[in-house]
Amino acid sequence: MKYTSSPSIIMRIRDLGESDLLVTFFTPDRGQLKGVAKAARKSRKRFANCLETFSLADLEYGIRKDGGLCFIRSGRLLDGFPGLRGDFNTLSKASFMIELTEVLFPSEVADRAMFDHLSHSLGRLASGSESDQALLFFEARALALGGYAIRTEKCCICGRHYTHTGTAVFKREKGGIACLRCQQKSTETPSLTPESVSILEHMQHGAIAEPGCVWEGATEEIRSVIDLHREYRLERRLKTLKYLL
Ligand SMILES: [Zn+2]
Repeated sequence: MKYTSSPSIIMRIRDLGESDLLVTFFTPDRGQLKGVAKAARKSRKRFANCLETFSLADLEYGIRKDGGLCFIRSGRLLDGFPGLRGDFNTLSKASFMIELTEVLFPSEVADRAMFDHLSHSLGRLASGSESDQALLFFEARALALGGYAIRTEKCCICGRHYTHTGTAVFKREKGGIACLRCQQKSTETPSLTPESVSILEHMQHGAIAEPGCVWEGATEEIRSVIDLHREYRLERRLKTLKYLL
């Protein structure tokens, strides 16, 4: 078995037998992987507290040719993000980030930008500031990286170029915005001000890196749109959603 090591985000951990752990982890080059950490519940030396959900660790692992479970040989903690485990609200948001990543990037779908985005977003959430915005930014960018960007360049009905001057509405069936001439605002088709459209575009491109730069109204508008969009595109309700406040 050939061994390699890479930064990894621990997504899930389950006991396996008496002393092993079954670990699901996300890597920049190979995406989501599943592996066995032999005797990990006893060996503090080889894993030094790095096998905890949400942790960023440098894992050394061997990949099997038949695509079966890999073998995790050792690990070194890079960042445990302790701030994620302080309260239920933050923990729920972090769990949602992991679940959305699992859905958008199933086994062997690798995306280095998504790895960086997840790692950065967990860190931002762990720092404790603006957690609703951190989650919104995470989701808008993750959906875009997963191939589900909301289209904002033109009206999805008449095709008119959107100039960022008038209010737009979101049409979930089209995954894009429409002008008010073509579509009235409703609960099914929520509106977006030009500022909200611009902020959404920045989020999707990963351009908003720091918290606090999104105004309250835009956060609410974009949140309604993202909720409709995610549910329609993924055709399911994520399990961790029920824990989000
Ligand atoms: Zn139109």
